[in-house]
Amino acid sequence: MADVHMGEPEVFAFQAEINQLLSLIINTFYSNKEIFLRELISNASDALDKIRYESLTDRSKLESQPELFIRIVPDKVHKTLSVTDSGVGMTKADLVNNLGTIARSGTKEFMEALQAGADVSMIGQFGVGFYSAYLVAEKVIVTTKHNDDDQYVWESQAGGSFVVGKDVDGEPLGRGTKVTLFLKEDQQEFLEERRLKDLVRKHSEFISYPIYLLVEKTAEKEISDDEDGEGKKEEEGEVEEVDEEKEKKPKRKKVKEVTHEWELINKQKPIWLRKPEEVSKEEYSSFYKSLTNDWEDPLAYKHFSVEGQLEFKAILFVPRRAPFDLFDTRKKPNNIKLYVRRVFIMDNCEELIPEWLSFVKGVVDSDDLPLNISREMLQQNKILKVIRKNLVKKCIELFFEIAENKEDYNKFYEAFSKNIKLGIHEDSQNRPKLADLLRYYSTKSGDEMTSLRDYVTRIKEGQNEIYYITGESKKAVENSPFLEKLKRKGYEVLFMVDAIDEFSVSQLKEYDGKKLVSATKEGLKLDDPREDKRKEEKKADFEPLCKTIKEILGDKVEKVVVSDRLMDSPCCLVTGEYGWTANMERIMKAQALRDSSMSAYMASKKTMEINPENGILRELKKRVEEDKNDKTVKDLVMLLYETALLNSGFSLEDPNTFAGRIHRMLKLGLGIDEEEMGGEDADMPATEEEKVDEESKMEEVD
Ligand code: ADP
Repeated sequence: MADVHMGEPEVFAFQAEINQLLSLIINTFYSNKEIFLRELISNASDALDKIRYESLTDRSKLESQPELFIRIVPDKVHKTLSVTDSGVGMTKADLVNNLGTIARSGTKEFMEALQAGADVSMIGQFGVGFYSAYLVAEKVIVTTKHNDDDQYVWESQAGGSFVVGKDVDGEPLGRGTKVTLFLKEDQQEFLEERRLKDLVRKHSEFISYPIYLLVEKTAEKEISDDEDGEGKKEEEGEVEEVDEEKEKKPKRKKVKEVTHEWELINKQKPIWLRKPEEVSKEEYSSFYKSLTNDWEDPLAYKHFSVEGQLEFKAILFVPRRAPFDLFDTRKKPNNIKLYVRRVFIMDNCEELIPEWLSFVKGVVDSDDLPLNISREMLQQNKILKVIRKNLVKKCIELFFEIAENKEDYNKFYEAFSKNIKLGIHEDSQNRPKLADLLRYYSTKSGDEMTSLRDYVTRIKEGQNEIYYITGESKKAVENSPFLEKLKRKGYEVLFMVDAIDEFSVSQLKEYDGKKLVSATKEGLKLDDPREDKRKEEKKADFEPLCKTIKEILGDKVEKVVVSDRLMDSPCCLVTGEYGWTANMERIMKAQALRDSSMSAYMASKKTMEINPENGILRELKKRVEEDKNDKTVKDLVMLLYETALLNSGFSLEDPNTFAGRIHRMLKLGLGIDEEEMGGEDADMPATEEEKVDEESKMEEVD
C-alpha cells in the first residue's frame, strides 16, 4: 500500500494531552518498541469481540464479512506493515473521537508513569495502546469500515494533526479495520517473518481469533525450456542454468517459484480448556499478560473446573500490585471475561463477581449459559449466581494459598487489604473466613503484622475479648492514653489505622467467639471483681468532682465518670458503644458530601473519664472541696477537656481559645504579670466564654 486518496479530507488537531503523549513516544528512547504489535493485535481482538457480541443477537451484522480474523502483512517493497481485522470497525465519528480528539483518563496517568520511569510496555493498561504504533512508524494510516458508515481513512505523521476522509479508491474491507504502519528506516526488522512470528507467539498467542501472517514460500521447480516465460504463478523468479553436459535431453531449467500464502500462527486451543497439569507456569504467566496487559507475572493463579449439574472452567489471577485506578468509580466493575462454549461473550459482567473482588482477573467459560445471553438476562440468571458463588469461594481459597508464603502475602496484603476489608463489610456469608485473612499491627506484633488467629493464641487467661483501637496512623494510636490499662494488664491491642477498618470492624463484631472491643468506646471493663469494692469507694469519693466537671463542661460531654482504662493520663474522652469513634468522626468529616443529619446523630456523645490516681485530678478534687467556687477550677477543667479531645483523637472545636488558654498557662509558669505587658500583647478574648474568663484570669495572676 502506498498512498491513499481521500474524498473531502478534513484536518483535525490532536487533543493536547494526546499530542504530548505522541511526542513523548516519538522522542524518548525506548528499546522495547516491539510491544506496538501486541497493542494493535489487542485492539483488533477487542474489535472482533464487539462484532461477535453484536452478532449474537443480530446475525445479519456479520453479513458484511462473515469470517472473523486478524491478518498481518509485511510489505518489503513499500516498507509497510499492516494489521487487518474483520472486527466492528469505526464510523467516521469513531475515528475522529477514538484516534485523536478525545483523551482517555489514562493518557495523563501514563505520561506521569513514563516520566517516573515506567516502561512503555505498560501502555495498554492505560487505554492508549494505539499510539504505540508511533514507536516504529513515521506515518500511520487507518482504513476502517463499520456496518453503519462508509469506508474511511485516517492518516497522520503525528506532528499535531491528523486527516480523516472517505476512502475513495482503496480496497473494500467489507467490515473491519486495517492499520498500516510506514516503518521508520531503523525499524525494518518488523518486516521479517521470523521476527513477526516470534512476536505474535510471545505476546499474542492467547488471542482467541486466528492470526494469519502473509508468508513467502519458495519452491524449486523444474520446467522445460518451452514452458519458460509462461510461469503464471511465479511472482519473482530466479532462473538457474542446469548443467547441460549431463543432460542431453531437451533443455530444462530449475526455477525458484515464490508464492504468498496465509499462515496461521496461533494454533493453541484456549489454555483454560487444557488440563492444569499440562500447562506450565510460564504459559499461565503469558496468558495472564495477554489477558490483562500487565507487564509483570501474576502473584498467584487458580485454574479449575466445576462439574455436576453445572459446568464451567475458569482461571483466576491475582496481580502483584493494585492498578492505578483500583477504587476509581468510573472504572469497569471487574476484570473477568465471560465465555460461553469458547465464544467470548463479554468483559466485566457485573453479576459474575462482587465488587470487592474487582482486582481479580481471569476468564470463565460456561457450558450452560445460552450463547445469545444479553446483559439484561444476566441479572436474573440462576446459573450465573452459582458461578459467582463458586468464583468467590475459589478466590478465597487462592488468597489462603498466597498466605502460606509470608513474603507473597505481605505483597498481596499491601495491595489488596482494602478489598478484603470491603469483603468483610459486604459479604456476611464469607465474613468469618475472610477474618482469617486480616492482619494488623498491635501492641505486641513488633515489626510484623499479626492475624486474629495469632492474637487468640496469645490471649491472656481470663481475657474474653479482642481489643482494638482505631486511629489515623500507627504512630497516633500506639501511645494513646486509652491503652494504658490494657497494656499494664498485658492485653494485646490491635491497631486499626485504615479508614476502612472502622467500617469492617463494625460488621465483624466477633472472631472465634470473642467480641471485638474498641479501646476508645464505652463498655470496656478491665477491672477484676476483687477490685470492685475499692473502685466503688473511689467512685463515691470522686463523685462530687465528676459533678462539678460536668457542670463546667455542660453539653460538651454526656457524662463524667471515673475511668477504668487509664493508668497515667488524667482523663480521656470515650464514645458510645454504637456511635462513631473519634476516628470515624474524622473520616466522616473528610467526606465532603456526608449527610449532616447523620453526623449529628452518629457523632457520638462523649463521656469524659477521669483518672482518680492522677495528681492533677487529686489536686483538682482538693480545690473543689475547699472552695466550690474556685475560679481557677473552670480554666483547668476546660484545659483538661481540650487536651483530652486532642489525645483521644478528636479535633478541637475552637483552637484559638485553646491556644489562648495555653498562653495564659505559659505566662503563669513564667511568672509574667499580665498587667505589665501592655495592651498589645495582652490576649484578646476570643469568645464570650473568654470574656467571662477574663476576671478569673486576673485573679489567678494575683
Ligand atoms: P484502548 O484499545 O485501550 O481503548 P487505544 O488507544 O488502543 O485504547 O484505542 C482507542 C480506541 O480506538 C479503542 O478504544 C477503539 O474504540 C478504537 N480502536 C482502536 N483500534 C481499533 C480497531 N482495530 N478496530 C476498531 N476500533 C479500534
